[in-house]
Amino acid sequence: GMPAAPPPVLAPRRKTRQIKVGSVGVGSDSPISVQSMTTTPTTDINATLQQIAELTASGCDIVRVACPSADDAEALPIIARKSQIPVIADIHFQPKYVFAAIEAGCAAVRVNPGNIRKFDDQVKEIAAAARDHGTSIRIGVNAGSLEPGILKKYGKATPEALVESAVWEASLFEEHGFHDFKISVKHNDPVIMVAAYEMLAEKGDWPLHLGVTEAGPAFQGTIKSATAFGALLSRGIGDTIRVSLSAPPVEEIKVGNQILQSLNLRPRKLEIVSCPSCGRAQVDVYTLAEQVTAGLEGMEIPLRVAVMGCVVNGPGEAREADLGVASGNGKGQIFVKGEVIKTVPESQIVETLIEEAMRIAEEMGEA
Ligand code: SF4
Repeated sequence: GMPAAPPPVLAPRRKTRQIKVGSVGVGSDSPISVQSMTTTPTTDINATLQQIAELTASGCDIVRVACPSADDAEALPIIARKSQIPVIADIHFQPKYVFAAIEAGCAAVRVNPGNIRKFDDQVKEIAAAARDHGTSIRIGVNAGSLEPGILKKYGKATPEALVESAVWEASLFEEHGFHDFKISVKHNDPVIMVAAYEMLAEKGDWPLHLGVTEAGPAFQGTIKSATAFGALLSRGIGDTIRVSLSAPPVEEIKVGNQILQSLNLRPRKLEIVSCPSCGRAQVDVYTLAEQVTAGLEGMEIPLRVAVMGCVVNGPGEAREADLGVASGNGKGQIFVKGEVIKTVPESQIVETLIEEAMRIAEEMGEA
């Protein structure tokens, strides 16, 4: 039959030049990628590779590792070789580790010129080494480490200051004919961050790495990142994203993926359409929704599962979903594609939904 039309998005992607981070394309010709950063000491190669494996399994496209010392730099070749996804080395202060990371076979290197003294003098060599090894670069401007001259000029990390710094650093690479870089202009305030990226997006065709820096613990960080990324992505701005949370990195990937799925920028997988519950609810909707979510976590097929507390909106929503339950009178009506297939006692709702989801997944796998 006819291929299904792609789901609608809010705006076309901003056109950018295209770069590669190892096997992953970054730019408007590629899907938006999701990144995280390991929290293990990079010198602990096994723990770091273990965390990278967990991140890969949770849908991470690109992983960044910190490289603050010579011992970390020494661990990079094995990590870069054994990681299932491209590895970016994160370098502050010491240009010698930029060269070490490039030599180590890292897919990309993140440099923060504000934290590398005499950065200007080193750009030519960095560009040459990166070009020789097919390594791309992220110019990572950060509100907390602006170059002293720019900080002095603006007094603080305004959007203009972040953008001026980024554009200047980009020009240093471009002067040497090096174009394989993306840019980030991170700030912990989503309003300043959004303004900075909007301004930067007008000034060149660089791929942009979105991030709200130091966004906070999981709840606040999730909201800050979702609002800021949502504002930018809904206007087509952003080519790769990293949600920063004071929480395990796998949580960052879950949030990043969910943001992209919510905007139809990545295919939706499991979607729980659960009601907020109200005085009409005839079942504990919170627990039911949580149990269904936990039971179906990791489903790889697109599946909308409706969990409704009563029969007011229940059958309607359940009909729109692939699978659903509408509760009432201590029982659950189980819907599959709009048809009530059975009615089960409340205690069997969760297991029945999981069973049916698995059956649908199997059918889709066979189709
Ligand atoms: Fe309330 Fe029923 Fe709507 Fe849930 S589905 S919010 S219980 S009316």
